[in-house]
Amino acid sequence: MTKRFLAIACLALAAPLQAQDFATSFDATEVAPGIYTLTGAEGKFGGGTISVLVGDEQIVLIDDAMVPTAQPILDAVTRLAGRAPDFVINTHIHGDHVGGNALMQENGAYVVAHDNIRKRLAADSKGAGGDGGLPIITFSDSVTFHVNGHEVFVFHVHHAHTDGDGVIHFRDQNVIHAGDVLFNKVFPYIDLDNGGSIEGFIKAQEKLIAISDDDTVLIAGHGDPVASKADVETNLAVLKDGRKLVKALVDEGKTEEEVLAANPLGKYHDDYSWSFITTERMTKTHYRDLTSE
Ligand SMILES: [Zn+2]
Repeated sequence: MTKRFLAIACLALAAPLQAQDFATSFDATEVAPGIYTLTGAEGKFGGGTISVLVGDEQIVLIDDAMVPTAQPILDAVTRLAGRAPDFVINTHIHGDHVGGNALMQENGAYVVAHDNIRKRLAADSKGAGGDGGLPIITFSDSVTFHVNGHEVFVFHVHHAHTDGDGVIHFRDQNVIHAGDVLFNKVFPYIDLDNGGSIEGFIKAQEKLIAISDDDTVLIAGHGDPVASKADVETNLAVLKDGRKLVKALVDEGKTEEEVLAANPLGKYHDDYSWSFITTERMTKTHYRDLTSE
């Protein structure tokens, strides 16, 4: 998966890619017993990282890609589990995570999501495949699934990537699907216009670390799909340091232009900048976040 594809799809812009750029099939990787990640086959883009819990009784899908890749995702789940999912959990509103909602519900799934996802999709449901993609079960703080003899705990983190983020903790398998609260080894996208904030994103990462141990498998929305607790600590350290570096310049009274010229995140450029969240865009996000408080 190229970073260019991530960039375009994370924004869910209209028709930025040609149809041949989208995944037409998905590869499954088992990351823990019964839990698979699904990523676009042949390096094609399928949306944010998807995972699926397969068991004797229930099938739970976490995120369902984009409208153009909804059918291939349904096909991939059917191949893996023998049928369509019983539940879909949306990690957040972006169109590269909710695009298969309508198709999944047509095929018998219940879509579960944070209240704010339904609220935003009710205003514009295109990214979820139309009104049939509205979540029919919503939660404000947390919800627990009791499936296949296991607990799956879903909890909200406040104003992190957006204002409707849910993190899925497969407690018994020691797996956490973090969605876009975790960008692994690339600068994160923090969607200030959809209720995200740097402080909330930092707190969400601290929470991920607090509930992880050295064996925890963390599934990231973008970047390398599988992260360790140590990876999350590194990503968080970069974000916190970046905020501190930009804040020092803001405190000196520098304008956005002067902050950009000083290039405070320069030391992270080679390892973390990518086409969607470049060093410049990350710097601007910090600046805007700090000066709008
Ligand atoms: Zn996103």
